[in-house]
Amino acid sequence: MSVPFTTGVHQLAPQTFAYLQGSCATGFGNAGLVHSGEEALLVDTLFSVPQTRDMLSAIARAVPTVDICWVVNTHHDGDHWWGNQLVGDAMIVSSTAAARAMRHAGPETTSPLLAPDADPRLRKHLEPFDFTGITPTYPTITFNGELELTVGQRVVRLIEAGPAHTVGDVIVHVPDTKVVYAGDLLMFGTHGVIHSGPIDNCIRACDTIIELDPEFVVPGHGPVGGKQDVVRIREQLEQLKLQATAAHQQGKSALEAAREFDLTGFEGLENAERLVLNIGAVYRELNGDGTPGPLECLHHMVELEESPKAEVTA
Ligand SMILES: [Zn+2]
Repeated sequence: MSVPFTTGVHQLAPQTFAYLQGSCATGFGNAGLVHSGEEALLVDTLFSVPQTRDMLSAIARAVPTVDICWVVNTHHDGDHWWGNQLVGDAMIVSSTAAARAMRHAGPETTSPLLAPDADPRLRKHLEPFDFTGITPTYPTITFNGELELTVGQRVVRLIEAGPAHTVGDVIVHVPDTKVVYAGDLLMFGTHGVIHSGPIDNCIRACDTIIELDPEFVVPGHGPVGGKQDVVRIREQLEQLKLQATAAHQQGKSALEAAREFDLTGFEGLENAERLVLNIGAVYRELNGDGTPGPLECLHHMVELEESPKAEVTA
């Protein structure tokens, strides 16, 4: 069964849902809902209060009797938790590392990117969102490794897989319906992003998800997929590691490496400019001195967006 990539609540299995926003652009994340009787668990809130309010209204219409008792934030990026205040009465759960990172990842972090003198090419990624009225609302329960939650009569397993996409990524596994919510460890239909790494942990996270033998995989961004989509991402990460490592050995900059990247096997993915963020993450690992920094990589990203291919000089 394929799930349409449209904004709204989509049922995947009995009492198991995805909330999608129908776009792979920055800031339009997915969420999930698992319930048993009246008790429900929400996987992630959204980037802003209005987006989260829309989602909660859609959930209330689709499954009117449920009460959200649990919220799991898959990681500390704002597009997965800045709406927490609207479900502030629930127990909010994340990994310890993600909860710690949230303390430095509130909405104030958007200010330099939205300032009048900011790079308009970066600003445009955040301009669609209304960040007013956000009260950072932090997890009340944190864990390391694994945690099992009971939702009514059902079990939901949380598996820490970070540092990978970010420092504290969590996979949410619903064993009775073979559904996995992967947060931003996976993005389908678009190039993913490695903020933290190491890339081997991103690959290992794919292995963990493949071993769970899921029928449905809800990525942090993009349409719902299945196990085969995770296998494909795993191959792409191996490719990325190989090509970035080779370019690094040849003394190329991350931007040069991105411009010359062989995109065989990456066809049809949106946001190819994100490659430079991921190559930058591999370079940081190889350099071991924090370079190239994430902000430098972001500026490379907008340059790559403007001129994706290497200029051929005679
Ligand atoms: Zn995200």
